[in-house]
Amino acid sequence: MEFSARLLRTLPVAAGTLLAEFEIPDASFTFEAGQASLFSFPPDSPLADRSRTFSLCSAPEELPSVSIATRLTPGSAFKEALSGARPGQNFLIEEASGDFILPRGKGVQNLVFLAGGIGITPFRSMVRSLKIRKSSPFKIFLMTVNRTADETPFLQECQEWEREGRLAWIPVLTKEGLPPGGSRQEQIDEGLERILEMAGEDSLLYLSGPPAMVDAFHQTLLGQFLVEESRIRSEMFYGYLSR
Ligand SMILES: Cc1cc2nc3c(=O)[nH]c(=O)nc-3n(C[C@H](O)[C@H](O)[C@H](O)COP(=O)(O)OP(=O)(O)OC[C@H]3O[C@@H](n4cnc5c(N)ncnc54)[C@H](O)[C@@H]3O)c2cc1C
Repeated sequence: MEFSARLLRTLPVAAGTLLAEFEIPDASFTFEAGQASLFSFPPDSPLADRSRTFSLCSAPEELPSVSIATRLTPGSAFKEALSGARPGQNFLIEEASGDFILPRGKGVQNLVFLAGGIGITPFRSMVRSLKIRKSSPFKIFLMTVNRTADETPFLQECQEWEREGRLAWIPVLTKEGLPPGGSRQEQIDEGLERILEMAGEDSLLYLSGPPAMVDAFHQTLLGQFLVEESRIRSEMFYGYLSR
């Protein structure tokens, strides 16, 4: 089923990263924090390729407002059109889907969120949702991996969550934060080691981002840190494959 969505505003949330906020007037549109939807320009759009899948990065409790965030990859006609879109412009959004959602079991559980770049979007939805609901049965350990602080999406929000004690946050900066002679992989491994130590052996690990980053996290967790596959949930942002 398709719903109509009206663009409310767009704003930058990091260098080269755009947030778009929409209003979905139909109250039957719902989703779970962490899910994704197919967004389309209307059929009369001149774009040859009108649709992209995006994780919803706002909380379900914020409906009828829904937000997405995306890297403005050069050469993407879709994203060029999105960044030029004006408030009031109409879009179409499909029913949300996906099982990259918070666990439903009872009891406090430690969750490790590993966000490769723009992969933070489903985690933002989950953390905002828990914040609005006020009581959280989870302890959250967030690791973000970006080249620089400037390129880190929702940097200020991550700082705020940490200050408020909602989560422990390890920002890994693979360009800016690199010590002399250090490698990108060493930085990531060090971050993983710290976060796994903090979260403990019973934690569930959520990996999200472009497929190459999620694959690399996955391989390192299995091969180097001997994490059991059953503890890992992954969300691959297919479509970034071509870059
Ligand atoms: C579950 C899920 C959640 C996602 N969440 C986000 C998000 O929160 N933020 C974000 O920026 N991106 C997200 N993506 C990726 C997004 O759908 C785009 O693929 C990505 O942003 C690259 O878009 P582009 O316009 O730069 O691609 P281009 O490089 O312009 O597209 C290249 C080609 O790939 C095709 N293509 C694009 N996307 C897909 C796709 N998903 N599957 C198959 N073919 C595709 C296009 O039709 C085109 O032919 C998500 C993808 C999935 C599957």
